[in-house]
Amino acid sequence: MAETLFHCDDVLWRRFEMICRERDETPGAVLRDLVRLEVQRCERRKARSAEGIDERLLVRLRLLVAEALAVSESWGDLQRALEERALKFTPAGGGLVLTDLATGETLAKSSQVGPPYMALVRRFGTGFPGHPQPGIAAQALARPCPLAPARRTGFPVRPDRRPPMTQTLALNDTRSIPQLGFGLWQVPAATTAETTATALKLGYRLVDGAAIYGNEEGQGEGIRRSGLPREQVFVTTKVWNSEQGFDRTLHAAEASLKRLGLAHVDLLLIHWPCPRKDLYLDSWRALIRLREEGRATSIGVSNFQEPQLTRIIGETGITPVLNQVEINPRLQQPALRAFHAKHGIVTQSWTPLGQGKSFDAAPVQAAARRAGKSPAQVILRWHIQLGASVIPRSTREAGLKENLDLFDFALTEAEMAAIATLDEGQRCGPDPARFEMD
Ligand code: NDP
Repeated sequence: MAETLFHCDDVLWRRFEMICRERDETPGAVLRDLVRLEVQRCERRKARSAEGIDERLLVRLRLLVAEALAVSESWGDLQRALEERALKFTPAGGGLVLTDLATGETLAKSSQVGPPYMALVRRFGTGFPGHPQPGIAAQALARPCPLAPARRTGFPVRPDRRPPMTQTLALNDTRSIPQLGFGLWQVPAATTAETTATALKLGYRLVDGAAIYGNEEGQGEGIRRSGLPREQVFVTTKVWNSEQGFDRTLHAAEASLKRLGLAHVDLLLIHWPCPRKDLYLDSWRALIRLREEGRATSIGVSNFQEPQLTRIIGETGITPVLNQVEINPRLQQPALRAFHAKHGIVTQSWTPLGQGKSFDAAPVQAAARRAGKSPAQVILRWHIQLGASVIPRSTREAGLKENLDLFDFALTEAEMAAIATLDEGQRCGPDPARFEMD
């Protein structure tokens, strides 16, 4: 296992470097595409191979590492992104060792001179901190970076020619989701179509709605008005609390599709777990059925906590692709995010701006001044660098534009660390352990 992970990564890196030279796409997008292809190949092999389970585990690991790589601009970033996925690199002997933080198990060793290490050195512009043989790093740095023109630090080095809002995160069902979208909570039904069409024309490709928002008709109408082909828009809706249970969830989803005027949604979520109702497992089984029937391409949950996630995964063997939860600088939920990473669940942040309560915080103000960006942009960029999908809402065209403009700057490691200190465990919204409103 240990050898295969990096043997395969070696191949992956060579293909990655070659395709980056040929394709006009971001390195992150190329890397994720490659890993997605690997997952698909692995899923096909599973049908024929008795070793299917090991292969899936291996591919999941590589997906986690690839995701971490795609959001990292330095060794520090990479370590943090890996830690969020319960993994860690440490220098050991002549190379790097990948460890599972939960079990302490060594998962893989990379050869110090292997292409993965050399490629990372070239990408980050330095050797691994404290690495015993700096000569190897110098050798790697002397070679040109595949993504010319080379830059000593930072990634990607080539300007992104594609609209950055199409930057995607891989889902555990081999599909992907735009990392940035916009939300429709409290957007008036009468203006939802206009807001949706405007946002899509500006470049958004993910629309987050819900039955309870009372504006699904406008959500669907806005998509049609935008003139975009259906497959270019990622549509989410959610099943409300009063509709939990197997049959009710099936009916609720059909009613949502009717209001949206769509044959399928890209993502269907259970809005809240409502643990006292204790119907979320039946609702989850209904979502699995709806996915099988093609009414939802991917299925996930919202506001679930570890016990409910563990239960639905354990009972059905199907892991949600995503958990949409409240995340903002005052409520950072590191333990839940680590759980998501460990299980291949994308974290999606709701109320990402935290009602503006951190706009005046010193670390946000300092980063905004340094980067020449607004506090809102700094906070949204923080979500992006955490590796989360993020769905801010604005009813103003200027606000929608501002919230898209996140991809020409990056927060430094020190700025990310300073924002991490703002976590107070303070919610803007209800506590999911107690929220049962119908
Ligand atoms: P946000 O964190 O997106 O904040 C929205 C508020 O911030 C609005 O008042 C908006 O005002 C303002 N705003 C937006 N952009 C800026 C900016 N650049 N500068 C200053 N102010 C700004 O909050 P939401 O609570 O709406 O969360 C986002 C989405 O998450 C929702 O729309 C919904 O889709 C989803 N959600 C999901 C929940 C769940 O239980 N699953 C719960 C809550 C939300 P203005 O319109 O004037 O710009």
